[in-house]
Amino acid sequence: MALDQALVDAAIQQALLRFPTGYAGAAAVRLETGQILTSICFDPPNAGAGLCHETGAYCEANRLGARVVASVRVSRSQPDRPFLILTPCGICQERLALWGADVEVAVAVPGNPGAWQSKRLREIQPHYWRNAVEDADEL
Ligand SMILES: [Zn+2]
Repeated sequence: MALDQALVDAAIQQALLRFPTGYAGAAAVRLETGQILTSICFDPPNAGAGLCHETGAYCEANRLGARVVASVRVSRSQPDRPFLILTPCGICQERLALWGADVEVAVAVPGNPGAWQSKRLREIQPHYWRNAVEDADEL
């Protein structure tokens, strides 16, 4: 399994390093080589120009010509709150599609938001738009 507690911990450590007080968030991805990349959001004054926590790691993986096999994003609102596992947003799911539908992503366990479970991209996107294109190509 490419997504494990070490990857979740790497995201939490990155979040705490960059945001030692108050809000904290970050992402971690595992490459096919086993290497872990971490990143944080880009949060300029114009929110429309901002980028998700995952984006930096995805771009770095692409720069390296490396395949992402797992991705996790964590966030906490304040120091006395637990880190939550956040499913990649729709745009990050589109970004992850670069590496195929078998990429593992961390999602929260319903009713236990501090806990995580691993799902493949195809599991969180059962009606992904590209499925229709691939189905048509098989005709
Ligand atoms: Zn996103």
